[in-house]
Amino acid sequence: MRPEILFPLFAPVSSLTGVGPQNARLIGHLAGPNVVDLLWHLPSGIIDRRFRPKLAELTEAHDGQTVTLTLKVGGHEPSASKRLPYRVHCTDDSGGEITLIFFHARADYLLRTLPEGAIRMVSGRLEHYRGSLQMTHPDYILSEKEFAAMPEVEPVYPMTAGLSAKTLTKAVRGALSRAPRLPEWQDAPWLRQNHWLPWNESLLRAHQPSEGAELDATDPARMRLAYDELLANQLALMLTRRAMRRQTGQRIAGDGRLRDRLIASLPFRLTPSQIVALAEISGDMASEGRMLRLLQGDVGSGKTIVALLSMLIAVENGGQAAIMAPTEILVRQHYAVIAPLCEAIGVKTALLTGRDKGKAREALLAGFADGSIPIIVGTHALFQDDVVFHNLQMAVIDEQHRFGVHQRLLLSEKGVRAVDTLVMSATPIPRTLTLTVYGDMDTSRLLEKPPGRTPVDTRVLPLARMEEVIAGLPRAMDGGAQAFWICPLVEESELIDAAAAEERYAELQKIFGDKAGVVHGRMKAADKDRAMEDFIQGRTRILVATTVIEVGVDVPNASIMIIEHAQRFGLAQLHQLRGRVGRGSRPSTCMLLYQRPLGETARARLRILRETDDGFRIAEEDLRLRGAGEVLGVKQSGIPEFRLADLAIHGALLDVARDDARMIADQNPELKGERGEALRILLYLFARDATVKFARAG
Ligand code: ADP
Ligand code: MG
Repeated sequence: MRPEILFPLFAPVSSLTGVGPQNARLIGHLAGPNVVDLLWHLPSGIIDRRFRPKLAELTEAHDGQTVTLTLKVGGHEPSASKRLPYRVHCTDDSGGEITLIFFHARADYLLRTLPEGAIRMVSGRLEHYRGSLQMTHPDYILSEKEFAAMPEVEPVYPMTAGLSAKTLTKAVRGALSRAPRLPEWQDAPWLRQNHWLPWNESLLRAHQPSEGAELDATDPARMRLAYDELLANQLALMLTRRAMRRQTGQRIAGDGRLRDRLIASLPFRLTPSQIVALAEISGDMASEGRMLRLLQGDVGSGKTIVALLSMLIAVENGGQAAIMAPTEILVRQHYAVIAPLCEAIGVKTALLTGRDKGKAREALLAGFADGSIPIIVGTHALFQDDVVFHNLQMAVIDEQHRFGVHQRLLLSEKGVRAVDTLVMSATPIPRTLTLTVYGDMDTSRLLEKPPGRTPVDTRVLPLARMEEVIAGLPRAMDGGAQAFWICPLVEESELIDAAAAEERYAELQKIFGDKAGVVHGRMKAADKDRAMEDFIQGRTRILVATTVIEVGVDVPNASIMIIEHAQRFGLAQLHQLRGRVGRGSRPSTCMLLYQRPLGETARARLRILRETDDGFRIAEEDLRLRGAGEVLGVKQSGIPEFRLADLAIHGALLDVARDDARMIADQNPELKGERGEALRILLYLFARDATVKFARAG
């Protein structure tokens, strides 16, 4: 239960004065639904009204600046037509003149606020129009008496259409006034060492910047707030992990007979990284604690074999193992690899997806329940309530960044006891992000690629040269090559993506006839599968696709990757796409077609891709160029969105937070005593409610 002291912060924003239902909706969209979300909505700029020049001093060089003027109101010049502004002419004691400009003005209002002959303090942005000074819609028009109420420096908040700056600023101020004095959860020496202020003061400083320096992510106030957020994240992960580990797993040790036979049947030798990873995994499984290991490896680094060999340990031990992947295509592909290998060594396997229905499905479920099917491949269909295992001992989750922590836990609950879990991640993610998603989960990394691969020749070309690219294709295809053609990604619109793909397909079909295929997210599952199958079997030679093929698809014969509008893709995504070729022995090419003009970041992205094929380096660069929020499409990834911490800047703090969290989890796992209580408040403050119970369980 959330501590009472935080209740005011978790009230809806509509409880703030001046925030009606319409504004609440807009604020909800911009910052979040609760008062606390406004605390995390930090200003991105300031308006400084301290510059108080005389009119005679002002030149065109001052245009665009915010000034505060002491003016004597002169004559009013009402608008001559609806389209023309209402003008009020003013002077000051330096002898200068300025015109205040109002569009769609109400004359009675202006006559009241700007009576002729009165002195008014006017603050706003300066401009020149046809050589004379003017100010359009001043921010403040105040009498000398009211003037004290004008803030000298105002924060500027990130905005959203339809919400006025005044309303938002007022709402944030309301939220700040509700912030209770909270007990200190940070270690006192650590605060002193960094010259950090208490939470409330940090919050105020971050929201009331006076010099602009407070806007910098490295300002002490912002650093402290970021650290709070990171500590909450790390502590939550650490407590969860401790609780999961405490569920004792089984000692799962096989005799190696199945693994030996499988390895003997492979046409290649395992790479050193694969051997190390397997040793780490079998070590985890053989120990009593529950395995929670992350297997990271670049596209094509050979994770599937490692996963399968690990699953066989459970089978040797008399149990079952399941591997799950997020998409139908990917699951089928795993099955296509795993089934023949298992068949060769006499181990039964089955595939379960959402499409299995009726009798066939029942038969499969019966095989899972009586244990006669030891190796199971499936989508999230495996989560369904009626799926019961006889003795599930091990689960592999091919994450591809699509599963969240929640689902990971679900599958493990299907085991009689805590199931040993191996999470596979195909896109190498930056180490900092790994920490925020998995905490200090044990990690095995496949660093080298299997031998015999030639690096992909990566070329960067303007879209204007597309004709040439197309003209070169028939010859390459006569030589037996197959090509992927990836169509522009349109943000959040599968519909437009699909249309673009269809259009390109129609064009290429004119040239290549039935040798061209298409696959995109709007097609029926069966049609998608057929299109993929045609391409895999070589019946089609060029496959137009949206990013649906990004995830794990394996076509060894494909050696050409063409990406249209490459500037619209993220770095990691381009790397993933490029990883679809260069899997066989044929020399491969990746053509990145970009639209001019190319922005700074897009240019850097394409350059990095040309320079390196190292997924781990690319992942770090991606984080640096984009910021954590955007890497890998945070929404479906399970990667927490930080409100205050920017990992590209506060990455070093994350390391400290991890150590800090580990120490707390070791020394005070039940979060007792004064600091323990304060830490609980911290967890609730950052909405880590679900993890607090792990502390309470002790
Ligand atoms: P990932 O899942 O990491 O993208 P895969 O497991 O699909 O990679 O492996 C890619 C390809 O490399 C597969 O065709 C697989 O059979 C092959 N492979 C795996 N390990 C090795 C190895 N040690 N030597 C040669 N080829 C390998
Ligand atoms: Mg794979």
